[in-house]
Amino acid sequence: MTGVEFENVFDDLLDGDEELKAFYQVLREQVPQAFIQLHGDNGVVLPEVVDQPCSSEGVAQLLEKTHAAGGKPVAEQGQDGEWCYGLRVDKVSAVLLFSLPGRTGNLLAESHGRELLQGVIDYALLQQEQQLLQIENEQIYRQIGVLKQKHTALIEDNFRQYRLIQDKEKEYARTLESEIARQTAELRNTNARLEEASRLQSEFLANMSHELRTPMNAIIGFSDLLLELKLDKESREYAQTIKNAGMNLLVLINDILDLAKIEAGRIELDNSPFDLRETVDNVANLFRIPAREKKLTFVVEIAPELPALLYGDNNRLRQILINLVGNAMKFTAAGEVAITIGLQDLTSERAQVVFTVRDSGIGIPPERQQAIFDKFTQADGSTTRKYGGTGLGLAICHQLVQLMGGSISVKSVEGQGSSFYFTLPLKVARPETVVVARPEQGRDAENIPAEAQPARSALRVLLVEDNPVNQRLASIIIKKQGCELAVAGDGIEALVQLEKHVFDLVLMDVQMPNMDGLEATRRIRKIEASAGTRAQYACLRNRTKPLSIIGLTAHARKEDEQSCYGAGMNGFLTKPIIRARLEAVLVEEADGCAAQGRPPEPAG
Ligand code: ADP
Repeated sequence: MTGVEFENVFDDLLDGDEELKAFYQVLREQVPQAFIQLHGDNGVVLPEVVDQPCSSEGVAQLLEKTHAAGGKPVAEQGQDGEWCYGLRVDKVSAVLLFSLPGRTGNLLAESHGRELLQGVIDYALLQQEQQLLQIENEQIYRQIGVLKQKHTALIEDNFRQYRLIQDKEKEYARTLESEIARQTAELRNTNARLEEASRLQSEFLANMSHELRTPMNAIIGFSDLLLELKLDKESREYAQTIKNAGMNLLVLINDILDLAKIEAGRIELDNSPFDLRETVDNVANLFRIPAREKKLTFVVEIAPELPALLYGDNNRLRQILINLVGNAMKFTAAGEVAITIGLQDLTSERAQVVFTVRDSGIGIPPERQQAIFDKFTQADGSTTRKYGGTGLGLAICHQLVQLMGGSISVKSVEGQGSSFYFTLPLKVARPETVVVARPEQGRDAENIPAEAQPARSALRVLLVEDNPVNQRLASIIIKKQGCELAVAGDGIEALVQLEKHVFDLVLMDVQMPNMDGLEATRRIRKIEASAGTRAQYACLRNRTKPLSIIGLTAHARKEDEQSCYGAGMNGFLTKPIIRARLEAVLVEEADGCAAQGRPPEPAG
């Protein structure tokens, strides 16, 4: 409340003299000819300007007499013979003294005189009460008015405060909104920058992968071909050394690219059903002969209750196992190497699988057992000199296991051996509902399938490859299989060849100038789909089945695999070309052709 304090509003109602004044006023009007004096109990005398009903000594005397009369009127005759009267009026808490100038005789002596006096006083009291009521009413109205004013002021004040708060809130919301918008824009920018950086990194990885694998393709492929020639002992040894060094370098390149991919968050894990027993057998088979040569006992134990099929990334799991078993073999001179697959937990939905690779080798000092999982870290400095290696294998295993939601650890006693453990939570697959993923053969240089058979009939192959060294290497392998071969340097040349000649198989490089392998494949599939255009292509016009197109790519990423299939290829081989794998593809195609009968080469 502003200004006047609330308590003051009622101050007017508390004025005690009002009653006496009102009473005096009425009497004054009723009997204007009379001298009137009122002596209040509170000491107030009305009127303030003396209205003399009798002499001053007479007043004191009369007052005394009136008080003593206890409410009855009293009369006193002054020396001038005039009568003065006194009466106690309780209602106004005062004594009334009056005289009537010009009137002789005692008014109280006559009964009608007393009645008249009483009547006048009663009437005056009544009037006074009414007046007071009126005053009171006015006062109340005034108070109500004041209250109303205060109330309105209060409401207005509240409203003002409310508007003020509302304005402040709106202002705050506006600031908040613009701040959020600013921060969102900033985040978006940062995100875009990060995405761009990540894209560039990814592109760099892809290019590195291509650039490094292409020469490796030549080194391994040609040293392989060289070893088939009649060579003297020394030359053979040199060629074998080149091949071994090439394969080691390829493993290293794969490791470095793998780790870079993992660290860039660019690795995509597969999640397909696979047979874990088959994967473990497959890995074990790679090491049986080296174990025998080192006279090591080689043990594989698989828990009988292991589900037949599990979901996961079969090839990455295989990579981890090859790494661990490879290390175990490398660091063990005598005794045994064992792979154990156990179950920590099994429900119908999930299996917590524990993989252990144990050896009786040199062991690892306790203080190095944690560090060996870091990249480029080996147990001690002499390891590289004695055993080779780069210290990347375990770092990759560690990252892959983590990506798969598991954990890896080691227990080892120096001079007695080491046990590497990793656990993976794997979803159980129901055999009747799934197509099983087979391990990807030939991902590793040492994993070459059994000797391929020569192709049965002269398969007509179109090799589309821009790199002359790769062209030459692939040509030699293909011709050695007794195939007829034509070569195109890019996608455009390939289409020209298909227009003129009939082929049973196209080996299509992916990355080429002018028209790349993906685009060329898409065009071929489009031509096949339209009867009119197809008639212009000697190779395509009489085919009952789509032309076999196998991609050749130095990119070994999952998305490259997907884009090969997406463009319409039937399969793909990664570079460096593993000779046995290429030969296997040729044999398979030749068999398919023999079974179907092949479209003839057009006359002329
Ligand atoms: P690399 O074997 O190429 O050096 P890894 O990352 O696979 O790289 O291993 C790192 C180091 O850990 C090895 O150099 C070796 O010192 C130690 N190590 C790994 N496995 C074993 C093992 N089974 N026995 C003894 N030491 C091992």
